[in-house]
Amino acid sequence: MGGPDHRRPPGDRLHGGRARRRPAPAPAASPTGTPTAGHETPATREAATYRKWGLKPFPAPPAPPAAKPVVRRPGAPVPVISEIPTHEKIVFLTFDDGAEKDPEFVRMMKDLKVPFTMFLTDAAIRADYPYFQPLIAQGNGLANHTLTHPNLRTLGPDAQRREICGQQTKLKQRYGTTPRLFRPPYGNWNEATRAAAGECGLDAIVLWRESMQIKNMQYQRGDKKLHPGDIVLAHFRGPSELKGRTMTEMTATMLRKIQEQGFTVARLEDYV
Ligand SMILES: [Zn+2]
Repeated sequence: MGGPDHRRPPGDRLHGGRARRRPAPAPAASPTGTPTAGHETPATREAATYRKWGLKPFPAPPAPPAAKPVVRRPGAPVPVISEIPTHEKIVFLTFDDGAEKDPEFVRMMKDLKVPFTMFLTDAAIRADYPYFQPLIAQGNGLANHTLTHPNLRTLGPDAQRREICGQQTKLKQRYGTTPRLFRPPYGNWNEATRAAAGECGLDAIVLWRESMQIKNMQYQRGDKKLHPGDIVLAHFRGPSELKGRTMTEMTATMLRKIQEQGFTVARLEDYV
């Protein structure tokens, strides 16, 4: 799974969970007690913001579970997951690598507040580390995708550890946050990868169920539908890799496919 396509890849906070929603301000009232002109409410403002990006507002995701359904048990190998066990109609967005650095994408995700997790590779981001800072400041997850994006199955245990622990250190130094989640490039891993991820302090290996292409969603299951808890893979890709489409167009298409199937987006870090 994955294949060379995964070379250009994944995401964290739609609404950031009900608890993080900003409280709606009380409507302004005229001295006579009737609402002031404009009739702008938080709901209409939100609808207008989503319309700007060709989308309808997402319903807020359910409150996160009190206990995370995926945990790393002491002494056990790190869990490897492609989905989160849940009955809620939620999916999780992930954006990989970090090659494309489109300022419009930062604006879009600031507007939409759709949570996502970024699995970043140092070789893809080192030309412009600051690009990712506002995305992290928005509350989106920062996660590990190795230093140089190798096929880890071709590397021995020491080399795998260098790729994974090395990126942990870099991301911590650059962004002040220690990643907890790891995605192996191309989705390729073995038991040495699992051991290395654990030794490097990671809590889970995160794969995926759907992969967003230029206009289509690739499904692993034969029914070609999203299922509750699915993890969706996308990439920081730009027009040269998207046949002229922009990253925000690709993202809007992906979000519409999620909405059309009656799903909303939740924050992966609330569940693992
Ligand atoms: Zn990748």
